[in-house]
Amino acid sequence: MRVSANLATITNCIEKAANRAGRNPNEIKIIAVTKYVSVKRAEEAVEAGIIDLGENRDEGLNAKYKAIGDRAKWHFIGSLQTRKVKLVIDKVDYIHSLDRESLAKEIDRRTNKTVNCFVQVNVSGEESKHGLEPEAVIPFIEALAVYKNVRVCGLMTMAPLTEDREVLRACFRRLAECKRHVQALQLEYAPCNELSMGMSNDFEIAIEEGATMVRIGTALVGEE
Ligand SMILES: *Cc1c(COP(=O)(O)O)cnc(C)c1O
Repeated sequence: MRVSANLATITNCIEKAANRAGRNPNEIKIIAVTKYVSVKRAEEAVEAGIIDLGENRDEGLNAKYKAIGDRAKWHFIGSLQTRKVKLVIDKVDYIHSLDRESLAKEIDRRTNKTVNCFVQVNVSGEESKHGLEPEAVIPFIEALAVYKNVRVCGLMTMAPLTEDREVLRACFRRLAECKRHVQALQLEYAPCNELSMGMSNDFEIAIEEGATMVRIGTALVGEE
């Protein structure tokens, strides 16, 4: 399928989900996750009108950045090793996987610009998932005050692998609740307006629960 055809289908689903929740569909951004696909396919996504691209490895990001550059906004969505920060920091607009202070410190040290970061939260408590426990989010964000180049624009989670819609919904709802707690702190460096949640199989539920960025790979660009 052409990316443009998939995009039309997904945009329609996003509108419906937003309407069900009484939300404005324009406040929901699609990140095309291009980690499975070629540079050419990523370029097709940009030509279809997608602005935001997500990659989870430095190699993938750099290969696509070379071809596409500033025609896209770049989202680093995978777990990020501290020693790899220097390989991606000049290219990325958003990092979705801030989960430890050592990473914040390295981001801060390696750049002079403000980097929009999502704090990754492991809502489901699965061992295999990265991210902070929900209870740890507030103290963690408070500790980030010293890292002047780190801006906490929002929270991110990956839902558990399940078909159970109510389990997925509870996970997204919990992240939205965490976000409200962070916002109540009114920290200048942590406005926390965004919720990065929802993938190919669960983005509609995520939108119903407040997602502002959905990260869609398989359903949008496919997996080659
Ligand atoms: C791969 C990936 C996605 C996209 O997954 P799909 O199910 O293919 O839409 C989203 N977020 C993260 C963090 C990923 O690693």
